[in-house]
Amino acid sequence: MSMTALFLAIVASVVTLLLIAKFWPRSGKMGINLKAVQCPSCGAPQPAVRVPRSLREVLWGGWTCSKCRCQMDKYGAPIEP
Ligand SMILES: [Zn+2]
Repeated sequence: MSMTALFLAIVASVVTLLLIAKFWPRSGKMGINLKAVQCPSCGAPQPAVRVPRSLREVLWGGWTCSKCRCQMDKYGAPIEP
């Protein structure tokens, strides 16, 4: 592969990643939430590094509050257990 082809391949990859990041949903099950989340029940901030406590948390994100055991999704909306 020539240097030009390599360069073009890198540029194409970066552009593709930027487009994915730009249009990736910020809501819904496949969305990514980059904001800090607080417990909807007691207001305790949830850790950025998450230890999943259930299969649902592994798959879809979300937290179980360590203070009040309230469950929330990755946007901080309460979930009924
Ligand atoms: Zn809580």
